Amino acid sequence: MNETDSVEKEKLFDDKGLRLDGRQVDELRPLKLEVGSLSRADGSAYIEHGRNKILAAVYGPRELHPRHRAIADRALLRVTYRMGTFSVGERKRPAPSRREHEISMVIRQALEPMLFLEMYPRAAIDVFIQVLEADGGSRCASTTVASVALANAGIPMRGIVTGCAVGKAGGKLLVDLSDLEDKVGEADVPIAMAYGRSKYTLLQMDGKLSKEELAKVLEMAEGACEVIYEKQQKVLREGFLQIREEISESEEPDVDDIEADTESSDSD
Ligand code: ADP
Repeated sequence: MNETDSVEKEKLFDDKGLRLDGRQVDELRPLKLEVGSLSRADGSAYIEHGRNKILAAVYGPRELHPRHRAIADRALLRVTYRMGTFSVGERKRPAPSRREHEISMVIRQALEPMLFLEMYPRAAIDVFIQVLEADGGSRCASTTVASVALANAGIPMRGIVTGCAVGKAGGKLLVDLSDLEDKVGEADVPIAMAYGRSKYTLLQMDGKLSKEELAKVLEMAEGACEVIYEKQQKVLREGFLQIREEISESEEPDVDDIEADTESSDSD
């Protein structure tokens, strides 16, 4: 072990070997998910994953503009990932950066295999992702929340996509890297999994890992994704139950109307 290694370890772990935010190596940051956060969108969701705070809004399937981009036999999925100027420590320039374009593309590629785009020829499905606060792993949390927003929009899907970053920092393999672990660590591996299919729809790697280490972190990622997936399922189910309740309430006949009907039939 060289001197740099020991300095990094000192920075990233406490005396008990816990991470600076008190987590074990395979522990996720606190997770909060909600659906239907925006009333104008066809579907929406909000996630707090650690200190990441991200909103996703889905519009469509709808008429595609500009028309020349229409695809004859399927819908066009457009994903826009943007970070607020206030979302990171130093003000981010408002113009979309190369990083934001790249992340928009990888999230689109992570979601696309789960959608039945062929059901909506020439249409557009737009997914807007706005990062209000970023703290490492924002592309994974964005994939998780965008997938929930698509389901909330009622768009048929083969399954839900769940994202989580894993990697290595301070010589240890870690699940759900924080911003600091991502920056000073040896490797960052953002992944997204298509549930029910056990397939990766996103797998990137920044840094270096041995073949054995990669196999091990991917195994750790599966466990983490399972926890996130259960949360996605739970909020979606609760959202649908609430809609069902609202519909059945609105369909229930008014008691006054029933009484008025009975009275009029008695007098007949
Ligand atoms: P991800 O958010 O998916 O991990 P990156 O690895 O590119 O993507 O970024 C890691 C973290 O670096 C981000 O989550 C964010 O906290 C921070 N970051 C990204 N872009 C900027 C920026 N322009 N200025 C300051 N911090 C940034």
